[in-house]
Amino acid sequence: MGRNNMKSRIKNLERQARILEMDGADRSELLNKARNYTEHFLNTLSEKPAYVDTPDKGREVYKLPIEEAPHPLSDLLELLESEVDTPGLNPTAPTHAGYIPGGGVYPSAVADFLAAVTNRYAGVFFSSPGAVRIENICIRWMCDLIGYPGKAAGNLTSGGSLANLIGMVTARDEAGIRAKDFHRSVIYTTRQVHHCVIKAIKFSGLQEAAVREVAMDDRYRMKPAALEKQIESDKREGLIPLMIFASAGTTDLGAVDPLDDIADLAEKHKLWFHVDAAYGGFFMLTEHGKKVMKGMERSDSLTIDPHKGLFLPYGLGAVLVRNGRKLYDSQHMTANYLQDTLKATEEYSPADLSPELSKHFRGLRMWLPLQLLGVAPFRAALEEKLQLTRYCYRRLSDMPGIEVGPEPELSILFFRYLPEHGDPNALNKAIVDYIHRDGRIFLSSTHISGTIYLRLALLNFRTHLKEAELILDIIEEAIEQL
Ligand SMILES: *Cc1c(COP(=O)(O)O)cnc(C)c1O
Repeated sequence: MGRNNMKSRIKNLERQARILEMDGADRSELLNKARNYTEHFLNTLSEKPAYVDTPDKGREVYKLPIEEAPHPLSDLLELLESEVDTPGLNPTAPTHAGYIPGGGVYPSAVADFLAAVTNRYAGVFFSSPGAVRIENICIRWMCDLIGYPGKAAGNLTSGGSLANLIGMVTARDEAGIRAKDFHRSVIYTTRQVHHCVIKAIKFSGLQEAAVREVAMDDRYRMKPAALEKQIESDKREGLIPLMIFASAGTTDLGAVDPLDDIADLAEKHKLWFHVDAAYGGFFMLTEHGKKVMKGMERSDSLTIDPHKGLFLPYGLGAVLVRNGRKLYDSQHMTANYLQDTLKATEEYSPADLSPELSKHFRGLRMWLPLQLLGVAPFRAALEEKLQLTRYCYRRLSDMPGIEVGPEPELSILFFRYLPEHGDPNALNKAIVDYIHRDGRIFLSSTHISGTIYLRLALLNFRTHLKEAELILDIIEEAIEQL
């Protein structure tokens, strides 16, 4: 092929490929339409149900296959509205009180947009020192919040599950145990620990380790005396007590393990102490939270989820490690092709502290709302959730036939309806089904040793007194109807 022929072929491909770079007018149009969509979404939020069960559950999305030819934006947005943003659970709904809500503060969405358009490479300091510094500022702010020292470090992860995994791998590496010792290693937790910790045990290769479900008190918190007894008995048997995974706010029941007492035992017996505060961590912004979670600052590592307690949209968790060097030693690695990046290493790079390399500049979605709105409204919203939860607890306690669980420690409570006759489990299941079918509010159920409970988890920043009243009214209505 002649050189001119080659050039003309390349030019022809260029013409087709140039569509990827939209011009200013097209960008504005795209953005305006997307903005109209999100404005309509948010402006009609109060009319939207918290849960919708459509017969075909979004199946129509298959009607628009990915093909060589493009589809118009209007078709795509229509499909999004009816098939994606309608069926299922609506996490933005003010009356969503199931699982762990959050909501999704708007400035985070704009930050995601900014980060995606500028596409700074936030994996290594050399590539974008500013982006890495922003992520480190967020991490430092969280370390200060929980009381970690200056040498602490951390990583912004996609969520709490990955944060727990990184915490566990760091603990494993710090202990320096060999594969041949895995079956003699012991991990201490309770039955209420989040199931992602059990996944982390598997992913970290420790599935041969013994997992001790330490006994809990009547409020589902780890019993320190039982923990110590178990550690001592394991030592006597020649096993290797490795790490303790405590929870600061269990997802299921909102229980906070006695962190200070556990820290004493971790120090005494030289175990790694990890606190899973994915749900509860940001209550450290409140006086009550600081009291309930005292001792958190003595942990070796910690998980905290801004997409829960800071109400960010999904996609942001964090692992913090008290001695940042241990995290670095566990996670960092270099490659030949990255040699230039070693020139600038003034701060830890995210890639040195996690399994990820290329990543979204996710720090911006946390930094922007905190800067733009200040910390005060976040603190107030968390305090409000604590008070609202206590208000709901009182009102539920006063409802005839309702048996409430223990006084909530943070913002999760559980209860059940006890009928005069009939199977309570079947009836409480029917109440949840009624509420899901109705859809105006959302709550979820759980079971403890075979007994079904309904739970309320208040952590959406949009949930205020009016929504809490509606939630309680609908629970009453469901009981009456059944
Ligand atoms: C939500 C949660 C997790 C899992 O975090 P993801 O962000 O969903 O991955 C882990 N532990 C606790 C206590 C949680 O509440």
